[in-house]
Amino acid sequence: MKPHIISAEALAPLVVKEDRQSSKSGTLTYIPGSTLLGAMAATYCRSFGGPADAKFRDLFIENPVCFPDLLPSQELGAETKPLPLSVVSCKREPGFRKEGRHGVRDTLALTAVARVTGKPANQSAWNCDHDGCKNEVKTFEGVWNGDCTDPHSAATSELYRRHTGIDRLTRTVAQGIFYTTQSVNNFVRKSDGQPVNQIFCGQTRLSPSQAAVLNEIFGRPVFVGAGRTRGFGEIRLSLKEVDEPAIDVNAWDRKFRDHALVDLPNGLYFSVTLRSHAILVDYFLRNVADIDLQIDGAEEVARVLKAVAIKGWNWAWGMAKPEELGVARGSVFLFRYRGGGQEELARRLARVSAEGIGLRRQEGFGSVSVCDPLHVCKEVL
Ligand SMILES: [Zn+2]
Repeated sequence: MKPHIISAEALAPLVVKEDRQSSKSGTLTYIPGSTLLGAMAATYCRSFGGPADAKFRDLFIENPVCFPDLLPSQELGAETKPLPLSVVSCKREPGFRKEGRHGVRDTLALTAVARVTGKPANQSAWNCDHDGCKNEVKTFEGVWNGDCTDPHSAATSELYRRHTGIDRLTRTVAQGIFYTTQSVNNFVRKSDGQPVNQIFCGQTRLSPSQAAVLNEIFGRPVFVGAGRTRGFGEIRLSLKEVDEPAIDVNAWDRKFRDHALVDLPNGLYFSVTLRSHAILVDYFLRNVADIDLQIDGAEEVARVLKAVAIKGWNWAWGMAKPEELGVARGSVFLFRYRGGGQEELARRLARVSAEGIGLRRQEGFGSVSVCDPLHVCKEVL
């Protein structure tokens, strides 16, 4: 199994509903893994065969591919990540300094210090330090390229269309019926003003045979989301193999201690940051907000998290999927390891990073990044 990035170029505006109610006009601004999984299965069945085929079973049943959420990106085949919920930026001018805003920084170390020492963090740390701005900082949510040396954000633009109702008898505009629909624009303007297709990317792991089948499917027209009969939702997909991410817990721990500015108690610190929503359950399958890494000697020190209701529709069943209470993408857990087996820890963390956590991972849930470099980046980006 090798890591691959799946890229989607929007060829038409996209409408991806957040929940089952078709009366709501909003759209998600990314392509969820569950939507991608459904589109792949539907395209396969339309163009190549059916669920009894060996290829179908290889992709979806026996060793199912975890179809990732495809998040907005500026480039094909480029890594793209949600910003952790521990990241803050100025209330007035939020964003990266490179993009002319007041800067983005991570507060996980501050939160950890406050938790470990029992004292609240220095208040001045919660103000913007850009050129005497001094405004408060707030959680800064969004998607970025994951590169601390050259950070930039990635977002979509939305299209709004206004509609009036038509009276059935008179065939003229019906009084009092006016509504708007929202979709993700299939074009974005680059900095030089040129329009290019909106791109979405996500990372997964594939065997060579799975990559070959996906490449076959990617050669066909693929549609995602709602409004497909009205010309919405066409995407062009591509696949790129990338390198295995390296996790160096010792180096991350050193930088984290350096970043915290106070002496943290002994142990090896590491973080687990959610790249997608996660559905975590306990022994009785009740939704919980705790990660069980099954590593002896690892304890949770701090967490920054948000809950999210996860809904969905299973087209094959013609029924709603069970509603779950999940942990939102960007949530961060900080752990301290005080066991003796560092090699075992490294092995276990590499596995968590590769396989993810929680339920419904084939639909993109529970994807994580271990020891994210943003948490130990000292500079304001
Ligand atoms: Zn500011």
